Amino acid sequence: LEGYVGIDTLTEQIRKKALRQGFEFNVMVVGGAGLGKSTMVNTIFKSKVSRRSCQPDEEYNTPKTVEIKSISHVIEEKGIRLKLTITDTPGFGDHVNNSNCWQPIIRYINDQYEKYLNEEISIRRRKRIPDTRVHCCIYFIAPSGHSLKAVDIEALKKLVQVVNVIPVIAKSDSLTLEERQAFKERIQQDLADNHIRVYPDMDNLDLDEEEINNNVELMNRIPFAVVGSTASHLVGSKNVLARKTRWGIVEVENSSHCEFIHLRDMVIRTHLQDLKEVTAQVHYELYRHERLETLKE
Ligand code: GDP
Ligand code: MG
Repeated sequence: LEGYVGIDTLTEQIRKKALRQGFEFNVMVVGGAGLGKSTMVNTIFKSKVSRRSCQPDEEYNTPKTVEIKSISHVIEEKGIRLKLTITDTPGFGDHVNNSNCWQPIIRYINDQYEKYLNEEISIRRRKRIPDTRVHCCIYFIAPSGHSLKAVDIEALKKLVQVVNVIPVIAKSDSLTLEERQAFKERIQQDLADNHIRVYPDMDNLDLDEEEINNNVELMNRIPFAVVGSTASHLVGSKNVLARKTRWGIVEVENSSHCEFIHLRDMVIRTHLQDLKEVTAQVHYELYRHERLETLKE
C-alpha cells in the first residue's frame, strides 16, 4: 500500500462527528390565510417522518395562527439525531392592506441570519453555533385553478432572494387531476415569466449528472400538490392520515392521491443537506457580506 494516505478513513471520522452532533433543520410555512399551513405542520410531524413517528391523535381544530411560532421534534433513527423545527406563520390576507404582508416573514428570516452572524463574529465564539436559520420555506398557493395572485408574485419575488423556496398547491383535494396538472403548468409558467427562481435553483447546486437528472424530474413536479390532515382513518386494516369526505377518503401519504410524500421526502430526506448548504453558502453569505459592508462604513 505504498503511497496510501488513508483519506478514506475521513469518511468514518466525518460520520462519527455528524452522529455526535446531530443535525438541525429548519423549515417555515408561508402563504395565504386558511390554506392549511398549520395543518401541514402537524401533518409532517404525524406522518412517517421516522419509523417511530408521532402517532396521529384525535382530529382537532387548528386555531388561527396569530404569530410566528416554531415547533421542534427530535427524530432519531439508527443513532442519528435530527432536530426538525417547523415555523408556522400567520397567513397573508388577514388584513385590509396586504401590501408588504411578507415583511414580518423576511424580518424573521433575516433575524436568524443576524443571530448567527453575531455568534460568528463574537470574540468568545461558541464551539457550535445554534443554527436557527430557515433552510427551507414552503410557500402555499391557493388551489384556485387560475394562476398566481399578484400578492403571491410579490411575496415570492422577495422570498427567493433570502431563502430556499419550495412552492406547493394547497388543499389540492379540491382539484381534479386534470385541473391540478393544468394549474401546475400555469404556475410554472408564471414563475418563469416573473423570473422567480424557486428551489432547486440548478445554478446554486454542486451536482453530478445523475443528480441533475433527478432534479429535472423533481422540478417538473413543483409545485407539489399537497393535502394535509391531522386525523387518521381506517383504510383496509390500517389507520392512515387522511381526509374523509362524503365521497371518499383522501390519503395524505398515498402518492396516487396527492404529492405530500414527494414534498416530505425532498425536504427532509433527499435534499436536506443541499438545502442546508445553499442556505449557508448562498443566502447567509449574501446577508453576511451586505452586513459586513455596512458595518465598515
Ligand atoms: P392556515 O391558516 O394556513 O394555518 O390553515 P389551517 O391549517 O388553519 O386550515 C384551515 C382550514 O382548512 C381548516 O378547516 C383545515 O381543516 C382545512 N384544511 C387544511 N388542510 C386541508 C387540505 O389539504 N384540504 C382541505 N380540503 N382542507 C384542508
Ligand atoms: Mg395557521
